[in-house]
Amino acid sequence: MTKTVVILGGAYGGLHVAHALLKRANKDLKVILVSKSTHFYWNLASVRAIIPGQIKDEAIFKPLNGALSRYPAESWELIIGTATAADFEGKTVEVTLADKTTRTLSYDQLVLATGARSAADNTPWKGLDSYDETVKSLHETAARVKDAQHIVVAGAGSTGVEVAGELGYEYGKTKKIILLCSGEKILGGDSVAAAATSELKKLNVVIKYGARVAEAKTTPEGKTNVVLADGEAITTDLYLPTMGLVPNTEYIPDRHLSANPNYRTVNVDEYLRVRDAPGVWACGDVVSRPRAGFMITQKQAASVAKNVEAALAGREPLVARGLPVDIYACSVGRDRGAGRMNSIKLPSIMIWLAKGRNLGVPRAQGYVDGSVA
Ligand SMILES: Cc1cc2nc3c(=O)[nH]c(=O)nc-3n(C[C@H](O)[C@H](O)[C@H](O)COP(=O)(O)OP(=O)(O)OC[C@H]3O[C@@H](n4cnc5c(N)ncnc54)[C@H](O)[C@@H]3O)c2cc1C
Repeated sequence: MTKTVVILGGAYGGLHVAHALLKRANKDLKVILVSKSTHFYWNLASVRAIIPGQIKDEAIFKPLNGALSRYPAESWELIIGTATAADFEGKTVEVTLADKTTRTLSYDQLVLATGARSAADNTPWKGLDSYDETVKSLHETAARVKDAQHIVVAGAGSTGVEVAGELGYEYGKTKKIILLCSGEKILGGDSVAAAATSELKKLNVVIKYGARVAEAKTTPEGKTNVVLADGEAITTDLYLPTMGLVPNTEYIPDRHLSANPNYRTVNVDEYLRVRDAPGVWACGDVVSRPRAGFMITQKQAASVAKNVEAALAGREPLVARGLPVDIYACSVGRDRGAGRMNSIKLPSIMIWLAKGRNLGVPRAQGYVDGSVA
């Protein structure tokens, strides 16, 4: 009898699991991929895609249909919609489609790969609610970057540092670029912070420390008035908030979520199986352990695919192993970067080679042809 695996989320985690299962599938497996967007989005390059003329849409958006069409038509289905409810006892998921109708999907195994979104609305750092919305946000941001003379990037985590670096590289001599850092060091005080700070300074990015945003309001002239927690106000042509991620877990019953009210990820065991939910697995930013990261997501997706296959075959799951080393790489502009492998600092040239020169864009093809899995 045909078994059904439903995968929620068509990004790094979900598409990877879909490829892994479909590559090795026999005739008795059907994979249903549910995605808000019609396209896979290489969001790692969003920081450079907001610089006009740097990255073409086709390089970072890949149609999911095209990625799956290499497999027999009867073995997969792509549903463009949003998972809005899940019943782990009844083994069903409710999906709301664009026309607001709902579909209830039954599954034998379920994979949660719905990731996490940017806390700031309508920013292009992560996929938005549809392909069109994400492309629109990228294009509008790029147009505003072009016109602005004064740009404030808020949040000095890796996204904020990379955005400020790209802006500094392109416009450091012609526009004022300010990076707001709520603490005393950028990158949360990671050991690569000093190197990244020095790279940003070379690009004329001004870093403002102890600068926590309390409020940002658009003025009638189309500028933004950014008010900091200490009361200081900065008026800017373009305000780019980058701080915060929100796990996309609203459709998951509350008892399976972390108790942290500020970061409600899904609870998993060492097999990446959702606790107290037989046949349900999770990978990537929806788990955010040990942290939200694309390489961590890849590794977890491979484990989840293997464990789903084992479950379908009635075998026991294997413990999901993490990455052998912790690599942290922050690109700073198109020429340089800062990073480390575990606690060993890596030279800028290595970060450039591994990440900064193209922000991994060529790797997006692996998610189309399935070679990633
Ligand atoms: C600017 C930037 C640069 C980054 N650079 C790096 C880097 O260099 N190295 C690194 O390791 N990590 C990096 N990351 C982190 C990396 O992007 C994430 O770890 C990765 O995106 C996680 O993939 P994911 O598939 O788990 O989730 P996501 O990428 O968050 O994707 C989840 C998918 O699920 C969809 N979805 C959400 N809710 C639902 C729902 N209810 N129903 C259906 N679909 C849904 C979303 O639309 C999305 O398509 C970066 C992040 C950002 C923002």
